Amino acid sequence: MLHTPADFLPMQVPDRAAGAWTFVCRGDKLLLREADLSLPEPALLAALTALDRPHAVGSWAGRHYQALHAGPDFPLPPGHAFIGLRALFGAVPDGFLGVAGRAIQLAEWARTHRYCGACATPMAQLAGERCFQCPACGMSAYPRISPAMMVLIRRGDTVLLAQHANAPGGRYTALAGFVEAGESVEEAVHREVHEEVGLRVHKLRYFGSQSWPFPHSLMIAYTADYLDGDIRTDPAEIAEARWFGAGDAWPDFAHTVSIAAELVNAHRPPQR
Ligand SMILES: [Zn+2]
Repeated sequence: MLHTPADFLPMQVPDRAAGAWTFVCRGDKLLLREADLSLPEPALLAALTALDRPHAVGSWAGRHYQALHAGPDFPLPPGHAFIGLRALFGAVPDGFLGVAGRAIQLAEWARTHRYCGACATPMAQLAGERCFQCPACGMSAYPRISPAMMVLIRRGDTVLLAQHANAPGGRYTALAGFVEAGESVEEAVHREVHEEVGLRVHKLRYFGSQSWPFPHSLMIAYTADYLDGDIRTDPAEIAEARWFGAGDAWPDFAHTVSIAAELVNAHRPPQR
């Protein structure tokens, strides 16, 4: 699963003396050496101009990491390219993906909070805190995190999987949706299940959570038992939804980085 390794230590102040390694981010893309998908050498980046002020990410396995957003003027060093995080699933160690997911979210926070959203004054970063604050009106902006629920509905020996209308590839997976203002996660589960497939559920059980840096979701996964109703999909959200049991061709996940894969695979019937 995509998460930072247990020996990762978050840091809020860049450690310049240690020769930090930099995640140069552009949206969900990272600047990497094309030959081996490694981060650019610190000495190479130090020679570049036009570097925005980096944000400390943390330390892992003896290295310090920092993140910055690369604007359109960022000079691309020879042999390097911006590569999307999804393209790295399974290609680099999971621990690296987890640290990269943090870096991407910090760079995106910095990119999108350069000015105060209330009075448009340039923001200043507070020392020792992951916070931009407006010097004029005091508005604070912390890294944005958007909670979303995921739920796998169980009915006897079957589970409900759906093809999301906007999902690339159209793979069947669990239901998911963002938590709305004023809702608990559980309320979001009941609302989304009813909106997307017209069912009612009960007996919600927490499964796990995962930071999902596209761009800043926190996926909170549950299982729930079917209560009543017939499947009635919302075509704007769901292309198709049906019950999957032992005799069905279950979806294959190319990798197990996402909590969706973990949730579905945990309920996959044993191969016969
Ligand atoms: Zn302001």
